[in-house]
Amino acid sequence: MKRIKNKFNRRDFLKNSAFLTGGAAGAGGFMVGANPELEVASAKAQDAEEGRTTALAQCPYCGVGCGTIIQAENGKIVSMRPDKDHPTNFGLQCIKGLTAAEPIYVDRMEGDPYVRKDVWEEWNKPDHGDLEYVSKTKGSFDEEHFIRVPYHDAGKMVSHKIAHLHKKYGGNSIGLYGSGQLTMEGQYIENLFMKGVLGSNTIEANARMCMTSAVTGYFATLGSDTPPLAYEDIELSDMIMHFGHNAREAHPIIFWRAADHKRKKDIPTVIVDPRRTGTVMGYEDINPKNSVHVPILNGDISFLNAIAHVLLKEHDDVIDWDFVKEHANGWKEYVDGCLNDYSPEQVQDRMGGKNHDVSPALIRRVAGMFADATRKRLARSKGKHSGKGYGGVIIMWGIGYNQHTHGQHNVISIINLLTLTGNLAKPGCGPFSMTGQPNAMGERFTGGLTGRLPFNQPLKNAAHRAHMAKHWRVPEKNLINAMNSKNPGYAVGMMERALKGDVKAFFFVYATHIDLPDQYNLVRPAITKTFNVVQEIYRHAPNNLYADVIFPAATWGEVDGVYISSERRLNIVQKAAEPPKGCLPDLDIVIDKGKEIADLIGLDGDKIFPYAKDEKGFYKVEEILRDVIRASEGTDTDLTGILEVEKLDGSSPYEQLAELRGIQWPAPTYEIAQNGGTKRRFMAQEGDWANKPYGFFRTKDGKVHMKLCKQDYTDREAITKELMRFGAEDGFYTIDNMDLIKKARDLGLTPDLPDEEHRSKLWNDVPKDKYPYWFGLGVVYEHFHTAKSNRSPTTRRLVPEMYVEMHEEDAKDLGINDGDKVRVVTRRGSLEARAQVGTNSLVKPARNNVPRGYMFGPWNLSVADSADPKKNKWLANGVTSRVWDPVSGQVDFKKSACRIEKI
Ligand code: SF4
Repeated sequence: MKRIKNKFNRRDFLKNSAFLTGGAAGAGGFMVGANPELEVASAKAQDAEEGRTTALAQCPYCGVGCGTIIQAENGKIVSMRPDKDHPTNFGLQCIKGLTAAEPIYVDRMEGDPYVRKDVWEEWNKPDHGDLEYVSKTKGSFDEEHFIRVPYHDAGKMVSHKIAHLHKKYGGNSIGLYGSGQLTMEGQYIENLFMKGVLGSNTIEANARMCMTSAVTGYFATLGSDTPPLAYEDIELSDMIMHFGHNAREAHPIIFWRAADHKRKKDIPTVIVDPRRTGTVMGYEDINPKNSVHVPILNGDISFLNAIAHVLLKEHDDVIDWDFVKEHANGWKEYVDGCLNDYSPEQVQDRMGGKNHDVSPALIRRVAGMFADATRKRLARSKGKHSGKGYGGVIIMWGIGYNQHTHGQHNVISIINLLTLTGNLAKPGCGPFSMTGQPNAMGERFTGGLTGRLPFNQPLKNAAHRAHMAKHWRVPEKNLINAMNSKNPGYAVGMMERALKGDVKAFFFVYATHIDLPDQYNLVRPAITKTFNVVQEIYRHAPNNLYADVIFPAATWGEVDGVYISSERRLNIVQKAAEPPKGCLPDLDIVIDKGKEIADLIGLDGDKIFPYAKDEKGFYKVEEILRDVIRASEGTDTDLTGILEVEKLDGSSPYEQLAELRGIQWPAPTYEIAQNGGTKRRFMAQEGDWANKPYGFFRTKDGKVHMKLCKQDYTDREAITKELMRFGAEDGFYTIDNMDLIKKARDLGLTPDLPDEEHRSKLWNDVPKDKYPYWFGLGVVYEHFHTAKSNRSPTTRRLVPEMYVEMHEEDAKDLGINDGDKVRVVTRRGSLEARAQVGTNSLVKPARNNVPRGYMFGPWNLSVADSADPKKNKWLANGVTSRVWDPVSGQVDFKKSACRIEKI
C-alpha cells in the first residue's frame, strides 16, 4: 500500500513557519502554538511516551482534520501529540488540538442513566400511566429532580414512549438532533433509525448551522456535495481569497499553510470580512503590498458579480469561453446580468454607505489580481485554458459565509466566478469550503438531515430509496413515509413545529440545543414541551436542563470510528481508552433503542441491526463501516475500493485508514483506494474510475449549472421590517412565511436592520426600543464550540470570559470604557459581556478590529458562566435571529441589530 506523497514537506513548513510566528506576534500575539515551541513540545511528548499507549485520530475539533496521536496511561487519556506523518498538519496543531485531552474527564457524568422523577413515577403507574407525559421540572438539573435508573430499565421506558408516539402521531412526530462530532458510523446508524425504522423526516444536525449553504451551493452548481480540492492545492495556487473566513482563528493549520505558501511564492491574498482580523494582519505581515482586505458586510454577491463584470470588460483574456460554452449552462444569463447590473459603480450606488467599502477602485484592484493569477495558470498551460497547467485562484470560505439568509447564493456566486474563468476542475484552483466541525462532512455523507439519504442522494430518488431500504434491511414504505413527511424550515422549522405541538419528542445525540438561534423565544420554549432523550458526556451541559432522560455517553478517544475532514479525507479515530463506567458510545445507545422500538412497532430489530458486540460489550463498529462501504457501491461517493483492498491485501478498512493517514472519497476501485482515494474531483481528475456514475460534472447533463444571484437593497427596509417580527412576536413562524424568506433571499438582504440614526449617542440616551449597531457572532482561536475547550484549563485561562469587540469611536460615543461590563440587547434577548475596545484592550484576546457600527462576540463562551438558565448570562444565541436560507436552512447568526447598555 502506498503512503500519500506530498510535495510540501514538514521540514520546510516548520522552517518557514518560524517566520510566520514572528509576524504573528506583531499582529496581535495570538499564535499561542508558536510552531518551534510545538516542535519541542512534540519531542518532549515523544520522549515521555514510554509506558503509554497511543491511538491515531483526527483532532476532535475543527474540520481541518489534523492528525493526532492520543496518548493514554493507566487506561486514561492523558495527552495529545501531533501526527508528523499526517498529510494535513505534518506534526503541527493549534492550541485546541494540543489540549484536547484536558477536558475529557472534567465534569464527567458516569454510571446509570438519569430519569426525571415525575416521568419515572408516571411510567411506573399501572399500564405505565400517561405515555405522553413530559416532565414538569424542565430547566433544572439536580438530584432533587432526577433519579438514577438502570440502563435497560430507562431504555425500556424510552422505547415504549417513542413507540406510543409513533403509533398515535406518526414517525414524523419524533425528532433527532445529531452532530458533526459523531463518527460516520454513528451518523449512518442514527439516520437508519430515524428514516428506516421510524419513517421520520425530522432529523437534523448541527451540520445544518455549519455547512448546508455550501452543500446546497455545490449541489446546485456541480451536482454533488463535493469540495473538489485537496489541501495540497493551496501550495499550487497563485492567489487565495477568503470570504467570511477568519482562517487564522477558525482553521489555524490551513492559515499556516496558506501563509507559508504566500511567503514562499509571494501570492496575493484577499480577505473579504467586515472585521480587520488576525488573518488580514498575518498576511499583511508577510507582504502588505499584495494583501488586500475588503471590509464588506453582506455585500458578497454584489462584490463577486462586480469582479466578473470587470473581468468581462477589462480582462477578457482570462474568460474561459471554451470551458463555459462546453461545460456550463446558465452562463448567458449570468454574463448578461453581471455586465448590465454589476459594474463597480452600480454596486457602489446600490451597496455603498457605512461599513461597505466597496469602492470601484478596490473592486478593480481585486479583479486585476484575480486576472493576473489566472494568467499564471494559463502561462503554465501554454496559453490554453484547457491545458495541463496548475494554479490560478482558490476561493475559501468559512461557516460565517454560509450563515446568511442568502447563504446558498453566496456559494453559487463564488462557483460562478471560478467557472467563468476556468478556475475549476484543475489542480491549484477552485472553490474550497472549510468545514466547522470535525465530521460535519460525515453527516452530509451519511444523509443525516431532512430529505436526505446517504451518499449524496435525496429521499425522493426512488431507485436510491430502494437501494437504501435493501441495505438498511427495512421496508421501503418506511422511507416513502419519511419522504412524504414534511419538515419545512429544517432545524428551525423543527423547533417551530415542536412549539406548535407537531413534534412530540427529541433525541439529542452528541449535539447541544444552544447552537440553534433565538433560544428564548423559540428553542427553549419548544423543548420544554417535548419528551427529550439526551445522550451527554458532561454533567453541567445545557441539554441536561431540558432532558427527561439522560444517557451518560462515551466521547472521542473512547470509541472507534471515522471522521471526514474538509478535503473529503476519511480519517481513522481510534479508541485510546475505555469510557468511564456506564458511559456507552452514542452509536450503541441508538442501536439498543432502535432494536427495541423496531420490535415494538412490528419490525425485526435484530434483522435491521445485525451487529455483534465485542468482549467488552460494545458493538463492533468496523462491521458498520463495512456496511456503509457496501451500500456506497455505484454512487457518487463510492468507497468500495476499500473492500477490494481488504479482499486482496488483507488489510481491514480501519487498518487502511491508519496506514494511509486517511482516504479521500470517492475510492471506487482497488487502485484508487490503495493510492489514498481521489485527490481532486471533476473533469478527468478522478483517476481510473470505470463505470463512473456521471460525466464531467455530477449534474444530470454533466455540466456546471451557473445561476445569476442578485442583490438589491431597493425594498430592503419594508421587507426586513417583516423579518424582524420573527422572535419578537408570538405565533409568527418562519415556516408559515416562506414567501417572505424567499423574497429576502432573492434580494440578498439581512435578517435585521440597525437603527443607525441612533448611533453617536451615549448608551443611556438610546431609546429602549432602538437598536443602532450590528452584532455578529463567530469564534475565537482558543475555543471550539461551547463544551470541551471551555473545560480545558489551558484554553479557558487564555480566553476566560464573554467579550464584545467594539470600535474605539463607537465606545467613545456610547460612553463605554475598555473592560466595562455591558449588556448586548437585541430585539429577541440579551447577553452580558466585557467590552473589548480595539486591539490595545486589556480584555483578552484583543486581536481584531471591528468597523464602526459593528460589534462582535464569540459564541464559544455561551455557557462558560453557567449552563443553568437561571444563572446563565452569556448565551450568544439568546440574541440571534432565526431567519434561515430557504434552500439550505442555514441561519444568519451574523447580523443582529443591537443596543449596548452599561451594567
Ligand atoms: S482545531 Fe483544527 S486546526 Fe486546530 S489542531 Fe484541531 S483540526 Fe487542527
